[in-house]
Amino acid sequence: MARSILDELQTVPEQIVIKIGPDIEPKYRHPKVDDGADGGIVEWNPDMSLDVFDSPRERPSASWVRNKRERYGLFWRKSRQIREYGTLSPAIALIHELGHAYQFFGDRAGYRSAMTKAGSPQEDNVVGGIETVVITELRQLGHDEGIRWYYGHTA
Ligand SMILES: [Zn+2]
Repeated sequence: MARSILDELQTVPEQIVIKIGPDIEPKYRHPKVDDGADGGIVEWNPDMSLDVFDSPRERPSASWVRNKRERYGLFWRKSRQIREYGTLSPAIALIHELGHAYQFFGDRAGYRSAMTKAGSPQEDNVVGGIETVVITELRQLGHDEGIRWYYGHTA
């Protein structure tokens, strides 16, 4: 999927700028207006990874999801947390931000509208529609990437 996102973004007539630096908080700034030139700015920090947690309760029950059973805490406690912790690599942070650009160019009006809504729906769209798919593909290739099913599942 990462390859197809890169291929698709190369067909966009607008120029997407990728800003790279050590003090940058990764993000995508979509263009405010469609002028045929500005494709927005992806900001990326190659030194920044992200600790996340993977809650089995919230995993989609799909054949492509490797569902493991984990136990954490005391089994008689209803409030016990069942979590697996992991780390998203800087490379995943980059595909996450490029995923925002991909989704923006797929539906500009929808993306702009989602940006005005509370609860960051565009973040869960990128996490669910792109980030977890890429991570699942990498895991199938033997890479040890952490995974989160919701944007807010950062440790
Ligand atoms: Zn994001």
